[in-house]
Amino acid sequence: MPAGVALDVYTRARRNDVSAGEWKARVDLAACYQLFDRKGWTDGINTHLSVRSPDNPNHFFLKPDHLLFHQVTASSMIKIDLDGNLVDPDSGKVNPAGAIIHSAVLAARSDSNCVLHHHTDAGIAVSSQEDGLLPMSQHALQFYNRVSFHEYEGIALDPSERASLQSDLGPTNNVMLLRNHGILVVGSSVGMAFSICDQFETACRSQIMAQQSGARLHFPTPAVCEHTAQQFERGSQQRRADSTEWKAMLGWLDELGAPYAQ
Ligand SMILES: [Zn+2]
Repeated sequence: MPAGVALDVYTRARRNDVSAGEWKARVDLAACYQLFDRKGWTDGINTHLSVRSPDNPNHFFLKPDHLLFHQVTASSMIKIDLDGNLVDPDSGKVNPAGAIIHSAVLAARSDSNCVLHHHTDAGIAVSSQEDGLLPMSQHALQFYNRVSFHEYEGIALDPSERASLQSDLGPTNNVMLLRNHGILVVGSSVGMAFSICDQFETACRSQIMAQQSGARLHFPTPAVCEHTAQQFERGSQQRRADSTEWKAMLGWLDELGAPYAQ
């Protein structure tokens, strides 16, 4: 977290009548929405990013339905419970499919505190390919045999889809391709989830570009693919420990004057 935000976190938390931990979670999530906007990973007001409350593991935050991603701030977040209901009935309106998807995933994955769901062109394209993400780039290899699939069931407005979302994601994978729809990423923190998402997006774009060239694709051996995936897993542990990348991303937002910490 940048120095200016860190120094102010307790004051801002008191001003908003929330704990310092909750305020930091809100700030990180708002930053993630702002970064998605700058990365071009948005789809109007649709799609949704969430973080679990550090004060209550049965609560999480989503943006108000009507806000575009660049308009999302820490104080604008709406608190939801793991049944998908507003904690405060008067707090506003969230995307109904978002409440179902995020409550299902956070309920099933106690190791994950952040869920990102989005519709990028490359992500939708790869989700629609029978073989999903191909092991054809260094970015893709970290996800080798580590991507879940969820069959398309229509817009996720039926609470019965919670069960298949949970079973399809499974206990360990951090990425799930939502068939003919988009991507879902989970992480232990907002920074980790964003980092995974960034890597996966690059892998998807590279795959589509390589396929568009029409050239025959070359793949590393399965042994090298698995070796590389394990190397990334060890590296991500390091990134989680020091959150260097996330601090850099917040610094970028500060340079741009993004109002995420308001
Ligand atoms: Zn969606």
